[in-house]
Amino acid sequence: MTKINRILSGVQPSGDLHLGNYLGAIKNFVTLQKEYECFFCVVDLHAITVWQDPAILAQKTREVTAAFIASGIDPKENVLFAQSQVPQHSQLAWIFNCVSRMGWLNRMTQFKDKAGKDKENVSVGLFSYPNLMAADILIYLATHVPVGEDQKQHLELTRDIAQKFNNDFKTDLFPIPEPLIMGEATRVMSLRDGLKKMSKSDPSDYSRIMLSDDENSIVQKIRKAKTDPEPLPDNIEDAKKRPEAFNLLTIFASLSNLSTARIIEDYSGKEFSQLKKDLADLTVNKIDPIAREMKKLIQDTSYLDFVLKIGKDKAINVATPVLKEVYDVVGFIKP
Ligand code: ATP
Ligand code: MG
Repeated sequence: MTKINRILSGVQPSGDLHLGNYLGAIKNFVTLQKEYECFFCVVDLHAITVWQDPAILAQKTREVTAAFIASGIDPKENVLFAQSQVPQHSQLAWIFNCVSRMGWLNRMTQFKDKAGKDKENVSVGLFSYPNLMAADILIYLATHVPVGEDQKQHLELTRDIAQKFNNDFKTDLFPIPEPLIMGEATRVMSLRDGLKKMSKSDPSDYSRIMLSDDENSIVQKIRKAKTDPEPLPDNIEDAKKRPEAFNLLTIFASLSNLSTARIIEDYSGKEFSQLKKDLADLTVNKIDPIAREMKKLIQDTSYLDFVLKIGKDKAINVATPVLKEVYDVVGFIKP
């Protein structure tokens, strides 16, 4: 089997997409689609690791698909699909459940964060989720995985699983995939708390800017963003010690495709109010066209379902022979 530079990345339909998803992931997908063969997946199986309302899950899956397309991902040149429609992900995930170790999963900080104090009462899926993520990537023999900083640890686990599988079964089937953590805003923080990641699952709408937000909401959210009382810093070391300031500066850098150092230089000694005003204008300019395009696309359910169907067929074509080879090396009876 020929191994080429191939990308797999996913976004959960677990809520409304936000600026962190855009700057940490989707914006980079748009750049990378030119260089790599890309598989972009709406990971609905991951979403149900926490409760999702069945009445809206399909619609959320279409919304993420619309966000991909509205952000500039070409559905003809790339494989866009819904994870649950390609059964090979779950089939490989089961095998990886038997390769991955409890000790490895016990170290995952996302599980600790998401489970909080209620560890006994969360789903088994929330715990074993990284094994399914490894399957999402390796079922396509993907070599590169563009993600936000928060997924780095899961990528390391994927590498461990690939390595252990190859060793245990004396094969070189799986590549050891590389994370691609790109840009100036690899970990966008909540606008309410500079120490918390911006997340779909944060209960406060004011913690995040959504890709579907209109101009007025964007301006309000940035105006209300938490800050500290000092004027803006004049060097990166000082900026890093002030999480809220650093967050706004890196968002600014990423949206304007400039370095954080350059933005710090521009705003050195100025008041937050000035930065916030300019950042709001910039964000509206970048997000508003995406929001408008998303709204248009979301009306067209049959087009989005068509895109997902074409994607599913392409994905299955690639996943089927890989799973066959896995079954072979594991020693299952040939069907
Ligand atoms: P949830 O809270 O339900 O986990 P999420 O906001 O973390 O949702 P995901 O669907 O889990 O979103 O992640 C999709 C992609 O967006 C991943 O590549 C992830 O690393 C990236 N990402 C998520 N949040 C951020 C963030 N705050 N900054 C940068 N990248 C992010
Ligand atoms: Mg997440």
